[in-house]
Amino acid sequence: MLSDLTKGRLSSPAKTRYIAAYDTESPACLTACRKIVEIHKRFEMPATFFILGRTLDANSAEYRKLLDDPLFEIASHTYSHQMLRDNDFCGSVVSMGERRKEIFKGKEAVERVFERPCIGLRPGCGFDNAFRGEPKVLALVQEAGFRYTSSLLWGADYSLPALLREPFNYDAEGFGDLWELPGHGWHENLLKDHNHWGPRRLTLWPPPFPQAIPGRFCKTPEDEFEVNRVFLDRALKTEKPFVSLIWHPWSLAKFDPDMKMLELTFAYARHIGLKPCTYARLYKHVSGVGSPRILNKGTTS
Ligand SMILES: [Zn+2]
Repeated sequence: MLSDLTKGRLSSPAKTRYIAAYDTESPACLTACRKIVEIHKRFEMPATFFILGRTLDANSAEYRKLLDDPLFEIASHTYSHQMLRDNDFCGSVVSMGERRKEIFKGKEAVERVFERPCIGLRPGCGFDNAFRGEPKVLALVQEAGFRYTSSLLWGADYSLPALLREPFNYDAEGFGDLWELPGHGWHENLLKDHNHWGPRRLTLWPPPFPQAIPGRFCKTPEDEFEVNRVFLDRALKTEKPFVSLIWHPWSLAKFDPDMKMLELTFAYARHIGLKPCTYARLYKHVSGVGSPRILNKGTTS
């Protein structure tokens, strides 16, 4: 049996990466992160925590203690969740001055607390067209020193789920070194009606990915895992470079305090051979920054 498993792996090595990622954004997230971290350490599963500057500043010593681990990337979720462009569900864009503050102060908080570079920005709520056609915002993002954004978090016309979109750069806007690394699937809080929206006009017709639309709100961790599994399977089958679901510690803990869904999802990701990763490592892979090929450039020319 062992040799069969080895043989299977060698003949079809999975290239699809799996990234566990958390939009960490409210007071309830701290307790939730304690449980989340425990599970990550047990599974030796890396993660990216996108943290709101305001949330971090409220408990900076606690967060540093909890997340300062080589397994984890710490990235920014802006300073206080203000909109960096219009979002059909979350509200209107704030002024240019406010946007600058959200981008710069959010990054500053992560770097001050963790004393390491913060290269990624996930804006509050995300958008259905990333930062396409927003050169002024991208200029701020670049000026702040970010290397990637993770802002494509919805399907077409602000529908869910967000499809399995691949990384791209903002060359068309004049920022070819800045990368977009999308998030996929549902904003899991909406799967459980945690925003108390009730039934909403959230899915697209005709649905591009009908298997990924459950017939009702999730009631159990197993229900949620079944939704996750559809995305993991599809990413692997269609040889996507990565798959990463959109999770929120406060909502995960409210629904499933033991984080059983995480255990099911991590075990399954490993079982089907996805490669655990972080957004920072995915950025290095897609951009070539930090790879031997790039580092050698100077010495060989
Ligand atoms: Zn958020």
